[in-house]
Amino acid sequence: MNVQYLELTPRGRGAISVVGVRGDDARKCLDRLFSPASSKSFLSLSDDSIVYGTWNSTGEDLLVVQTAADSFEVQCHGSLAAVASVKADLQSGGAAESADSSAWLPAGNEYQAEIVVAMQACTTQRTASHLLRQYHLWATANLQDRAVVEQALSFATFGEKLTSPWRIVLCGRPNVGKSSLINALSGFQRAIVHDTAGTTRDLVSQQTAIDGWPVELIDSAGIRDAENQIEKAGVAKAVEIIKQADLVLHLVDAAADCPFEPEVSQHRAGIIVINKVDLCQSPKVPNVSCPVIEVSAKTGRGIEELFDLISKVLVPAEPKPDQIVPVTKNLQRILDLAR
Ligand code: GDP
Repeated sequence: MNVQYLELTPRGRGAISVVGVRGDDARKCLDRLFSPASSKSFLSLSDDSIVYGTWNSTGEDLLVVQTAADSFEVQCHGSLAAVASVKADLQSGGAAESADSSAWLPAGNEYQAEIVVAMQACTTQRTASHLLRQYHLWATANLQDRAVVEQALSFATFGEKLTSPWRIVLCGRPNVGKSSLINALSGFQRAIVHDTAGTTRDLVSQQTAIDGWPVELIDSAGIRDAENQIEKAGVAKAVEIIKQADLVLHLVDAAADCPFEPEVSQHRAGIIVINKVDLCQSPKVPNVSCPVIEVSAKTGRGIEELFDLISKVLVPAEPKPDQIVPVTKNLQRILDLAR
């Protein structure tokens, strides 16, 4: 039997999974495994159909969509179990799992093929729409044009971050509210919140999105003189992570007088976040060159404004709609060579 199949959707969050099925005998193979709701035989249905029906072995309701004369998509529930049973049934029905995933990519040049693969790592609609636009723009990219290349490279970091999150490190003394702010920014309880100083001994991270930009919020152990070994290790790790961060949120307590840590003020991108303003109406605002914002992780005051500020600092400008951007390391290298 000449039928091949491949799971086309990437692993990760997703309501729907798609399994591609193609080959001369694909229709016959699907006819045995799937029953259209119209109770007509799958074999008798016309081309270009979107057929709703039942997967025989599991009783799951799903769609089978014809995409070409000998090519179909089985669109089932996004759970691992649902897609695994579709694949297992195809296998036992005589189909073979395709070993060459590149043969299933949409037509396009080598740059576009790379962008299709990169697209699978997008976690937000905003980043996916940028990648989709880049897919179309790279079809006719003119790398001979110096200005085009320079403009594209000025967005290299932006392009890289579309598929891997911006790293935001929250630091400040123990008990200043780092874990609480992570919870407030991610909208749900995740980090441990505790009254005793030094509870957050290690780095805790939370992936979320701010304004459609994927971010990883990293809670540091706090930079200060640690007394015990476990805390010392956490502090060293925090200093290292701060160096690699795209943005550092330096928290201070509105009600307490805490000094600034040099590691933070020396970072190229930082925001001073004065937390717990619900406890102190007129906190001391430090005289620093980076942005300062007053919030309460507890009441939510200022969180919306902090969201906007983070978004502006991370992405001060988006590329123009007709501008190519290197969205993978390899495209960045190609542009570098074309310089
Ligand atoms: P961390 O050690 O910096 O991670 O601090 P936590 O997030 O664990 O918070 C320490 C304590 O401060 C907890 O009791 C929190 O409930 C409290 N806290 C955090 N943010 C605020 C705030 O904005 N206002 C008030 N009143 N309490 C807060």
